[in-house]
Amino acid sequence: MREYRVVIIGAGIVGSSIARVLSMYENLRVQVVEKEPDVGWGATKANTSILHPGHEEDPDRHPVRARLCVQGNKIWRRWIKELEIPAKFPGELMLAFNDEDLKRVRKYIDLARRNGVPGVRLITDREELEQLEPNVSEGAIGALWAPTAGQINPIQATIALIENAVDNGVMLHVETKVIGIRVEKGLVRGVETTRGFIEADIVINAAGIYADEISKMAGIDELRIHPRRGEYFVFDPLAEPKVTRIIHPIPTPITKGVYVITTTEGNLMIGPSAVDLPEHAKEDKSTTLEGLNYVWKEAKRLVKKLPPRTMIIRAFAGLRPEPSTGDFVIKAYDDPWGFVNVAGIRSPGLTSAPAIAYHVRDLLQEKLGVELKGKRKWNPYRKDMVRLRRMKWKEMKTLVVKEPAYGWVICECMRVSAAEVLEAIERMRRIGIRTITLDGIKFRTLALMGRCQGSFCRIRIALLLQKRLGVPLWSITIRGGDTRYAMGDIKCLWRKGRT
Ligand SMILES: Cc1cc2nc3c(=O)[nH]c(=O)nc-3n(C[C@H](O)[C@H](O)[C@H](O)COP(=O)(O)OP(=O)(O)OC[C@H]3O[C@@H](n4cnc5c(N)ncnc54)[C@H](O)[C@@H]3O)c2cc1C
Repeated sequence: MREYRVVIIGAGIVGSSIARVLSMYENLRVQVVEKEPDVGWGATKANTSILHPGHEEDPDRHPVRARLCVQGNKIWRRWIKELEIPAKFPGELMLAFNDEDLKRVRKYIDLARRNGVPGVRLITDREELEQLEPNVSEGAIGALWAPTAGQINPIQATIALIENAVDNGVMLHVETKVIGIRVEKGLVRGVETTRGFIEADIVINAAGIYADEISKMAGIDELRIHPRRGEYFVFDPLAEPKVTRIIHPIPTPITKGVYVITTTEGNLMIGPSAVDLPEHAKEDKSTTLEGLNYVWKEAKRLVKKLPPRTMIIRAFAGLRPEPSTGDFVIKAYDDPWGFVNVAGIRSPGLTSAPAIAYHVRDLLQEKLGVELKGKRKWNPYRKDMVRLRRMKWKEMKTLVVKEPAYGWVICECMRVSAAEVLEAIERMRRIGIRTITLDGIKFRTLALMGRCQGSFCRIRIALLLQKRLGVPLWSITIRGGDTRYAMGDIKCLWRKGRT
């Protein structure tokens, strides 16, 4: 049976899901190429983190999105268990404030029926609404209830997928930017990168907001992608009141609207805004006063009460990759043979990712005629890190006796120990991360994400990295490149004296 060399461009949730699915086959040699120092740092890092049920997708206008969203929501339930990913399924309420809204809710119930989304129904009884969500706005006269809506930690999901894919033989190249695609005699030959040429028979473009530019490199100019900015506020985990369900308004033609959610880590989060940016602004992740004020005003409309603004610990923005086609563009090409576009993966791309991955596998078989041979020893499982914050007091005591580094709590806000930071370093090394960054540690351990946002623990973690990696303190970066945490030795030495 023929062996194929496959290169996946982009280690976001989509590229990583594809890597996991393709790692199931004996005759595929899969490599993932990512320009950033770590995985999941594109749109995957900054979104609302909802596993949408699929009732908001119109199968006439966006049939691919509608189908893959519903399938993805189902597949995630299995993947979450196999890979031990933080997730929950609290269900979602789309609120109606007047009769016009109720009419639109009925339209979404009809879409749910057409897309095969289970359990979606109309609620007009105020008592039932309050039972489902005690903090629901006094002004809501009804809602669409979608019990299959879920939430996931998207970046931890990406890390889990890549760890599992690497365990099953996939190779990850980070800090490696694709700058060209070599095509000869109508066949894909490989990718030119900032670290040299990688030979490939099949190239899968999962480059998120840059997927239009990658597609052009292969001679296929079928879509444009522009950024649509979404801004958020995150509250202190101690801030009350929270919400038990996912709460949002009736969607508009360009956005599903501002959500009020309690994240898988227990923070109340509100957002996003939706502002179209020009095509060239693909790196503009700045927040704006206007956008954040809009988020606040909209969120206030949805719930009885928000915690005070003083309990906000972070504001951030993500960029949706909005395709000119509206729908996802998932296609395998004959010319050049071997090129596959997985482009324009805007929302609900996080939800759809596992279904996209199986769809790409099917395209390789059906459109490119690739015969696949399953691995006999493919491992579907991946263990999450040991996490102090999830443990009971007795369990902690036993653990600390066995491994004293768990007794050194390095981040008090999120209760993260030095042992977890060390485990994160080991895991990063195992998947091929070259530069151990503070953000890499943050996304794996949750340290730096609490109330103090690193004011106390950042230096402790940096000092631990210095010791473990044997590098000067000033060379440690927040997210690679020129994002050095310390500005020369003076700041470091001053802080060092205080810890
Ligand atoms: C504000 C907002 C809210 C959202 N909310 C939701 C939601 O609640 N639910 C949901 O289902 N979806 C949601 N989405 C959509 C979801 O986040 C995206 O669809 C999904 O993350 C896309 O994943 P991806 O892997 O395609 O892209 P990305 O995560 O952007 O990954 C692409 C990767 O390709 C890499 N790359 C790019 N160019 C190159 C190159 N030349 N060489 C090498 N690597 C390259 C990038 O560095 C990046 O890591 C939201 C998006 C945003 C922005």
